[in-house]
Amino acid sequence: MKKLILLCLIILLPVTGQTQFKIENNKDVFLFNVISGGIIGGIGSIINKKNEKTYKAFFKGFYKGALGGTLVFGGKQMLSNFSRTHNYSNIWASKVLTYSGISMIENAAANKKLLSNLHFNLFLFRINYRADNQFVFRPRALLYSILNTGYTIIKYDMHINPKISLWTGIPVFSDNKILSKNSHFKFIGIGMGNSIWVTNFQTSLSFETIMSHELTHIYQFNMFSSTNNYFSITNTKFGISKFYKKLTKYFYLNFGAILYNGCYYLASELNKDYYFGNPFEGEAAVISLQNE
Ligand SMILES: [Zn+2]
Repeated sequence: MKKLILLCLIILLPVTGQTQFKIENNKDVFLFNVISGGIIGGIGSIINKKNEKTYKAFFKGFYKGALGGTLVFGGKQMLSNFSRTHNYSNIWASKVLTYSGISMIENAAANKKLLSNLHFNLFLFRINYRADNQFVFRPRALLYSILNTGYTIIKYDMHINPKISLWTGIPVFSDNKILSKNSHFKFIGIGMGNSIWVTNFQTSLSFETIMSHELTHIYQFNMFSSTNNYFSITNTKFGISKFYKKLTKYFYLNFGAILYNGCYYLASELNKDYYFGNPFEGEAAVISLQNE
């Protein structure tokens, strides 16, 4: 019951916060990352606590998560550099900083030591290094992102861009066409799960600016996926445990994706009249456009 209340709280907090909170500058980006990291870590720390007081578990998780959020903010600043300079080495520096930060938030949400588990996403794989009690190096395929990528490949019929994919360590699809349209917008880029779709069409924005916007969404997705540590089905009595163990040996299951997608959807519903009023879009705009 306690867990259920906490889960409701984590869903309600960003939603109520997002009705007021718009991201319009770098200071807002900083607050968004530090506070989100802290809350994700704090609530996860309570859910996964053992024999400790609730408020202590929350503050312990909050400070670790906030620290992780600070690194994620630093990683996003490197993306801004990439948008300005078009220098792809910025992306790798950005990825190292961001995934170090996200690892800290994940550890906070699991009520573990700050650096007990480090991970780095490369293409559609998650490379995990467990440093807590033994050396375990475990690459696993990102199941949600694989399914999502497959679906989007079929939907938009775009071709993989091998050069940009290698330069960024992310599957990037590009083509000379607009992805989709609604009454207000022509969509020229999509960042979903761990893959990116970008139009090569001549627009007022550079390819690198669109890439840094979409990469910001990928970081947001992975940061909010730290809530995966809220969901544990390994101890169930319904026989799922064996299957789950086998599956998770080779695949990383991401239940946190549900929460990110839910938050993104609700935030965009609440800001229907202004696309960039959605903090996830506001942040991506600040990161990619602040140097234009
Ligand atoms: Zn966007």
